[in-house]
Amino acid sequence: METIVADVAIVGAGGAGLRAAIALAEADPKLRIALISKVYPMRSHTCAAEGGAAGVIKPGDSLDMHFDDTVSGGDWLSDQDCVEYFVKEAPGELLQLEHWGCPWNREADGSVAVRSFGGMKKQRTWFAADKSGFHILHTLFQTSLRFPSIVRFDEYYVLDLLLDEGRCRGLTAMEMRSGLIRQFNAGAVIVAGGGAGRMFPFTTNGAIKTGDGMALAYRAGVPLKDMEFVQYHPTGLPNTGSLLTEACRGEGGVLLNRNGRRYLQDYGMGPETEPGKPQLKTMELGPRDRLSQAYWHELQKGNTVSTRWGECVLLDMRHLGERKINERLPLVRELAISYLGVDIVTDPVPVRPVVHYMMGGIATDTRAATPLPGLFAAGECACVSLNGANRLGSNSLVELLVFGKRAAGSAIEYIRDLPAAGTAALTARAQESQARIRELFSRTDGIESMSGLRREMTDTMEKNVGIYRDQAGLQQAVDTLGQLRRRYRKVMLSDRSNVFNTDLFQVLELGCMLDCAEALTVGALARRESRGAHQRLDWAKRDDDHYLRHSMVHYRGSGAPRVDYQDVVITRSPPGLRDYSGGHQ
Ligand SMILES: Cc1cc2nc3c(=O)[nH]c(=O)nc-3n(C[C@H](O)[C@H](O)[C@H](O)COP(=O)(O)OP(=O)(O)OC[C@H]3O[C@@H](n4cnc5c(N)ncnc54)[C@H](O)[C@@H]3O)c2cc1C
Repeated sequence: METIVADVAIVGAGGAGLRAAIALAEADPKLRIALISKVYPMRSHTCAAEGGAAGVIKPGDSLDMHFDDTVSGGDWLSDQDCVEYFVKEAPGELLQLEHWGCPWNREADGSVAVRSFGGMKKQRTWFAADKSGFHILHTLFQTSLRFPSIVRFDEYYVLDLLLDEGRCRGLTAMEMRSGLIRQFNAGAVIVAGGGAGRMFPFTTNGAIKTGDGMALAYRAGVPLKDMEFVQYHPTGLPNTGSLLTEACRGEGGVLLNRNGRRYLQDYGMGPETEPGKPQLKTMELGPRDRLSQAYWHELQKGNTVSTRWGECVLLDMRHLGERKINERLPLVRELAISYLGVDIVTDPVPVRPVVHYMMGGIATDTRAATPLPGLFAAGECACVSLNGANRLGSNSLVELLVFGKRAAGSAIEYIRDLPAAGTAALTARAQESQARIRELFSRTDGIESMSGLRREMTDTMEKNVGIYRDQAGLQQAVDTLGQLRRRYRKVMLSDRSNVFNTDLFQVLELGCMLDCAEALTVGALARRESRGAHQRLDWAKRDDDHYLRHSMVHYRGSGAPRVDYQDVVITRSPPGLRDYSGGHQ
């Protein structure tokens, strides 16, 4: 097996991975950086982000207000030292992108334009039309090309982390083009593998978001934190799950039920101050968990609209006018026309909540360090505890930048006085990893199909672990996922070739999703309260006495995972009421 030696290996070349790579290269040109990605960097999910990135820039706004919005939006499950660091670093990171060439929208006077976003009480979301993620990722990618020390391994699938004497010392990855497995020996590893929305059948997430990064760390002994908090985005297209950005509502779009009523006013989302003019922070600009829950109630009441794509509500943007729509929401118009045949200039578009974002992930501290020495994580795969129980839209793109850079700084510090690794031990670990793949290829007693198991998993998640949950449903899901994990050991490859074997990668991705889904469901079953995106019909109240804590789920091989808890860091904002509704339920 060929061995590649690096100072730092990065898993993932999306926003977080690229930002980390650039920070490493800038800090020390002599560092050997391996940037490994299962897709070409520009195909990472960051590219799909539409609405924008939050950072305080305008007079009348303040870091304290951004802090308060994030903490209350997260229903007090955010670590407040983390939020303080984040809001302070955010504007500088967005300006840095500007200097690297990111084409932010401008006001008429030439200053950076900002738009409203759900849960943000001030306008502070920077944007580049409705293609913000595309421009951010492009800016990072083109900047990364300036540094010869960033060596890219595009279309390499990372299989396992390599551990020696309690430290993470590298990884194994398969070159997808040849099927050859390579060993990467590295002083430190930064995991930036993105989210895991594909555990659910209905999601805005690209097909590559299968929780691989989370599973890598989890199997290596790092707990997954707060996995039960899954964000539904209230406005996805009902057939493909494609996202219609929150900017639709930020720009003034409204949500209507079958009676043409702006139903959010019936869910404590705040009255209009005058007709057609909802208070900023309320109605359509309430936080995503509340909006998705309101949809669920409308569905129970029979107030949704039946369409050929299933039950929906309507997102009406006609009053914005064609000019504004073309300037600010061109992609949204294109998506609705291409996938539904609906032109938002002339008609309201049917939408429904779809799984969008994982608040939970690999447990890290504010330095982006995991409890495993040598392993760091950043971006959506990580849970640094910025987003708490519910992420505010437009905080995530900035999280990639702030904590991607932070992970790089922490990794540099860590490798400074690192003792040499026992290379023989690492090679032995790498061979075990290779043997795992060989076993899959040579398996003859396989009776399970990848697609069959995947369908059972996504159905279970949708049915039992959705917007509202209860004991019986969650228990059923835990049981089913345990069985699916056992049956997974009998999954059969239908393609045994070495060249771009997508069957193999989908089998590996399914294994990752099953582990993540089980951790999520076990965490949800144990949390007997309702907070943010985790809503229990049988435990409808938030319970700070028992659950103002992060759930930490530990991997136990083929056995059921173990859950314990870690305190939330509160520096200055004691748990209170979320003021979008006048009270948490
Ligand atoms: C449609 C959509 C719109 C969004 N809009 C916004 C928005 O407007 N504002 C906002 O703040 N947030 C938004 N978000 C959320 C935000 O875009 C994501 O959370 C963020 O981009 C994730 O970035 P990342 O770098 O963590 O991961 P990604 O960009 O998903 O990158 C993950 C990387 O990991 C690599 N990888 C994964 N597994 C492996 C493996 N086994 N081996 C090798 N490589 C691997 C992939 O190849 C990829 O390069 C949106 C999300 C979606 C889905």
